[in-house]
Amino acid sequence: MTKVLIVGGGIAGYCAALAARRDRAEVTVVARAPGATALYAGGMEVVDDLDAILGLPNHPLARLGMDSVGLATELDAAISTLQLALGKEGLPFEGTWRRRGLYVDIHGLARPASIVPETVAKGELGALTGKRVAVIGVPQVGDYDAASTAQALKELHGIEAFAEEIPIPELPQAASLTDLYGRRAPPPRARGAAIAYPPGFTHLPVDGFEMLASPPSPHGWRLQQAISLGAVTAEIASFETSRRKVTAAQAGGRTFRADAFVLATGRHIGGGLRAGRDTTESLLGLGVFHDGVPAASLGTRLQHLKYLDPAEEMRIGAMTDKRLHPLLEDGSVPFDNLYAAGAVLGGYDYGGPCGFGVPILTGWLAGRFAARQGQ
Ligand SMILES: Cc1cc2nc3c(=O)[nH]c(=O)nc-3n(C[C@H](O)[C@H](O)[C@H](O)COP(=O)(O)OP(=O)(O)OC[C@H]3O[C@@H](n4cnc5c(N)ncnc54)[C@H](O)[C@@H]3O)c2cc1C
Repeated sequence: MTKVLIVGGGIAGYCAALAARRDRAEVTVVARAPGATALYAGGMEVVDDLDAILGLPNHPLARLGMDSVGLATELDAAISTLQLALGKEGLPFEGTWRRRGLYVDIHGLARPASIVPETVAKGELGALTGKRVAVIGVPQVGDYDAASTAQALKELHGIEAFAEEIPIPELPQAASLTDLYGRRAPPPRARGAAIAYPPGFTHLPVDGFEMLASPPSPHGWRLQQAISLGAVTAEIASFETSRRKVTAAQAGGRTFRADAFVLATGRHIGGGLRAGRDTTESLLGLGVFHDGVPAASLGTRLQHLKYLDPAEEMRIGAMTDKRLHPLLEDGSVPFDNLYAAGAVLGGYDYGGPCGFGVPILTGWLAGRFAARQGQ
């Protein structure tokens, strides 16, 4: 049985574990802490336009060397397996990567997403058109205002929305949205309306839905808890290597030996990349690229670009070959049994339309490649 060690407990590491276990590998996931996955707003963006992505040579999905039919087939398999697994963990999701909807957030803004928690699905803008929407407010909560959200729904999206304030007297003074987490949804007085709740409540009424969140996100926290079960909490500090192979990962006094390794360490928030004057991948000294060029070689030009457009920093990251082997700065593959997945990869805008699509699909494939190591 192939032993696979996955470093990273976000959505990429989780999808890698699902795929590797499906291929009968013995899988260990090691994670230091929650990363960016725990902050997502509540709607998974997967891909917008596969054909357009294939025209971007440095995009992690284009670098897999598949055509759009191949990518679509893998996305179908990865996402149905993910939805099944999350459903079993008590966190059912709805939607398909082939269709994007617009979902309302707590400020009344609309955000695109393809796969959403079942509790968010009824808040799709199209489904709200023509309905009256009660936006639930809690007067004790200081960092959210239902009246402003209702106003934005009306002005921005033409939805007939109104605020309904429901006091929760037992909340602490100067409560914030996070204090609502895990409480039973208070029943509204409004009848016959769709009911928009700030995220975090449980036991929503039949017509109720949760809005998308700003960080810290209850949706992200629920997802992180669902995917963390079974992961070992430890920080990998170094790897042992021998002749083009990684043989073990070290965490404090512990050594994790395996046949294949998946690096799903995320970007700056996860800790996979270190930002500084130069952005680096510090665990294995892998190459960090911007637009296909080693970031270190761009020097002050990249600093200047980052200053002009912070999103440039978000496109920096590791680069992989078709089998998701990460590259060194000179473009060579240092290890045959190391795979990289998720937001540690560069070449795409990780807050954009592939926010979850890249981690899900590269995680899925990296897990499979790792499980089949040596076959
Ligand atoms: C604020 C915010 C909101 C977002 N909202 C959305 C959204 O609404 N929709 C969307 O589609 N996308 C969204 N994104 C993007 C999306 O959340 C991320 O791209 C995705 O979650 C990245 O997943 P990941 O598994 O690659 O990395 P992460 O979730 O960051 O996981 C990295 C993991 O690696 C672990 N790790 C790192 N180094 C080590 C080490 N040395 N030893 C052990 N473990 C280690 C970390 O502890 C962590 O568990 C958002 C991103 C941010 C920052």
